[in-house]
Formats: sequence, C-alpha cells, structure tokens
Amino acid sequence: MLELPTEQCPINSGLSGNFMFGARPVLSSSGSVTPSFTFDEAIAACDLCGGRDFATLSSAANVRECMRCGYRFVSPRPSQAQIAASYSDASFYSGWIDDDAGRQRMWSGRLDLLKGIGEGARVIDIGAGIGTFLAMGRDRYGWHVTGTEISSSAVQLARDRHGVDLVLGETESLELPEHAFDLVTLWHVLEHVPSPSRTLSLCRRLLRKEGLLAIAVPNSDDARGWLIRTKANLRGKPAPERYEPLRPHSEVHLSHFTSRVLVNALRQRGFRVERVTLDNQYANPTTRTNSLVRSYRLIRNLTGLNFGQATFVLARSMIDEQSPVTVVNA
Ligand SMILES: [Zn+2]
Repeated sequence: MLELPTEQCPINSGLSGNFMFGARPVLSSSGSVTPSFTFDEAIAACDLCGGRDFATLSSAANVRECMRCGYRFVSPRPSQAQIAASYSDASFYSGWIDDDAGRQRMWSGRLDLLKGIGEGARVIDIGAGIGTFLAMGRDRYGWHVTGTEISSSAVQLARDRHGVDLVLGETESLELPEHAFDLVTLWHVLEHVPSPSRTLSLCRRLLRKEGLLAIAVPNSDDARGWLIRTKANLRGKPAPERYEPLRPHSEVHLSHFTSRVLVNALRQRGFRVERVTLDNQYANPTTRTNSLVRSYRLIRNLTGLNFGQATFVLARSMIDEQSPVTVVNA
C-alpha cells in the first residue's frame, strides 16, 4: 500500500508559498481580527475558457467546476481587498528562516528539475518570497536572477540574506522587460491569483521565444482524491473534506488545478508542455518523503495517475514574440 502523508497546507508545508497579498489582518471597527470572509464576488464566466456552465464540487467550500474545460475554482469568493488584508507578514517568514536548512534541501530538489536550463540563464521568479530559490540558482547555475514579491519584509530579507534584489509590487502592475527571460517560475502562486489566465499571459510576455515556464501547484487530480478516501477507509475513519472553506490567516486557494486542466490551459496559450511530474514540496525533506515522491513520480510516468500532493509542469513558449497572445478568454 502506498503511504499517504498527512495533508499539509502548502505554505505551511514549505512550498515557497511566495504569493503574498498584503501585510495586515482584517480588522473590524473594534480592532479585533475578523474571523471569516464574506463571499460576495461571484464568477460568471470560466477564467480559462469563458464557459458559463458550472458543476458544484463542494457547497461548503464554494468550489465549482467548469463543465466545458474542467477548471475548478472558488465562487463566490472573498474580494481581493479582503484576501489582501487577511495576510499578516510581520512574523510570516520567521518559520521559513528557522527551518532554513530543510528549505534549502527542498529548493535544491526543485533546482534539480531545472538543471537543463543552462548556465547564465535569465530567470524571473514570480512571488519570490525571501529569494532562496533565486539565490541557489544563481550560485549553482550562474543564473542572472530577479523576482517579484508583494511583501516588503520579504524583499528586505531577500536582499539582506541572499543579496537578491526583488521588485516590490503586484507582478501585473510592474514595469517588467518583455521577452527578456529564459525561465519564468511560479512556485505555488497560480492557485492564489484572481485570474490564472492573466498570469499565464503575463508569463508568456516575459519569456523569450522558446523560453521555459515552470509551474508548481497543489494537485487536485481525482487520483489524489481517491487515494485520500481509500486511506481513510482502510483506517476506518471518515474521509477528510477535499476542499476546505476559505478563511482569513490561512491558505487562500482560489483555484484547484488538475494536471489535465493546467496542461490544456498552457497549450491554448502557445506553450508546448515538456514535462509533467510531482513537485516535491516537503519543507523538511527526509529519506521517507523523498522515497514517497520518487514512487509517485514513477507511478505517474507509468500510468499518468498523479497521487502526489503537488504537481510540477515545465512548458516552453512557442509563440513568436511579435504575435498576439492566443488566449481563449481575454
Ligand atoms: Zn472552462
């Protein structure tokens, strides 16, 4: 029997979780922390394909699935202002720093996935956190690195700890050079953004022709859901809810990607998908977790089934720099 690790919140489990919205918790007029969101932003059309017919996957968590393309998303959802205010970055990164050795091993494993990029490549990491990934890529491969980050404290930490200069602000509103990068990375960012379609189009604009886009997201494949239910049944316990309602001060995933949906979204936007495998997201990888990820990667290669907690996709931009972006719903 394959061993299923405990479900982990991606940011807390050590995914880069780099996408940060803001710095303060939601405060009521009395100054206390607001315990819940209001869900008043309904999605009328699928962000990826424009479809308007949705199935409900979870009433409790407001998770819908587009009947046309299979994209899973939260609707209605909290406003971006609420989400931004729900994150507090005052102490957020202290856990990362305390666990620096484990995180360096995690990033090292991710860099192994990118060793074919080449020495001296120009790399931009969207939502770069405290810059550990970029610093290690610079030191290992001689990459010329930059990144974006919305948390000012993270930008400061990246400079102080790693000598990496990040651009502060929301990526889509920044002045970034177009078609200038050999590699764009999105480490557990896409599930947080309000419009994955817009973010993928931005990545396409940042990349030179035949540049590479690396994406890691939590895995919403049905094989994963089956494994979770099976393991609970074998233990005689009720299966945990697949999707949790969003609440402040925790992960706010607005999208839940299956491998198929992510691959199709990339293909429709002018990317050639070169690799789909598991992302090894363990913040403190051990012999046991590494062997688990190796096993799941092998199973995925053999069967196409992804039992892992997170998915990694590497895709190459195949559109000429001057041609318009091919986006179904834009
Ligand atoms: Zn759709």
